Amino acid sequence: MSQRPIQGPTPRGLHLDAILNPNTTPSEPTKDRAANSEIALNWLHTARFLTTAPQLNNLPAMDVPEIAFVGRSNAGKSTSINTLTQTRRMAFASKTPGRTQSINLFALGHHGETDAVLADLPGYGYAAVPKEAKLRWQRVMANYLMTRPNLRAVVMLCDPRRGLTELDEILLDVIRPRVTAGLDFLVLLTKADKLTRVEANKAMSIAKLQTAGGSLKLFSALKRQGVDEVADLLHQWAHDPQWQGNGQTSREPEDFGDQSLGDAPDAVA
Ligand code: GDP
Repeated sequence: MSQRPIQGPTPRGLHLDAILNPNTTPSEPTKDRAANSEIALNWLHTARFLTTAPQLNNLPAMDVPEIAFVGRSNAGKSTSINTLTQTRRMAFASKTPGRTQSINLFALGHHGETDAVLADLPGYGYAAVPKEAKLRWQRVMANYLMTRPNLRAVVMLCDPRRGLTELDEILLDVIRPRVTAGLDFLVLLTKADKLTRVEANKAMSIAKLQTAGGSLKLFSALKRQGVDEVADLLHQWAHDPQWQGNGQTSREPEDFGDQSLGDAPDAVA
């Protein structure tokens, strides 16, 4: 008697592999995911300080993928970076008014090899920073986002109780042309532990409209919500075989204009 091929949907919870080859281990997506995030977190834990650059021309040229973290002051950027890299004070907020701010680069990679870089950009919108310093930094940041050749992805941190501010939206507009050239961006709604489920859903819906083209995730450093998924995403971006590297810049540097933004006091922590 000839064998009938198995057709139609497999019963719920059963993998076709398991039916055809009962002696082999079925694929276990949950386990795979956990293994992937463990690999990603171990990789992120290799983060070490590389350099600090007060101006764009102080940044070293690099040919590995770079992932930039941006966000309004007090959005939870330092805490999120420290949580993802499992370090206590690798990134720290520099909120002292008038203090010189810099782009800090951290190298990632096992055995001392650098296969990617994290760039921690200074938090913006702090009320007490003099207007001139604010404008200078807005310009540096916009130019960095538009011209850094090896920029692979941008992670924007946003406190959902405050929502995306005008400057957040301007920065998203700045990177949009590069998104078509392969730049990924992710908006993290931080401090998710402070939101009820209803508030979280509402914040996600609002942010979804503002961040078309990017990914959006709720994140809590405190409760470790989203940590594994974000680590996994960063790892994937940094090890994307399709990535071409340099030459993705789609716009020339331009003046960021005279937009003084984010003057609200940083009262929400
Ligand atoms: P940065 O200025 O963006 O670097 O912000 P920080 O990382 O310094 O965080 C600003 C404030 O938010 C601090 O008081 C943090 O303790 C707090 N914060 C950061 N992440 C979380 C979080 O996941 N949950 C809660 N509840 N607070 C957080």
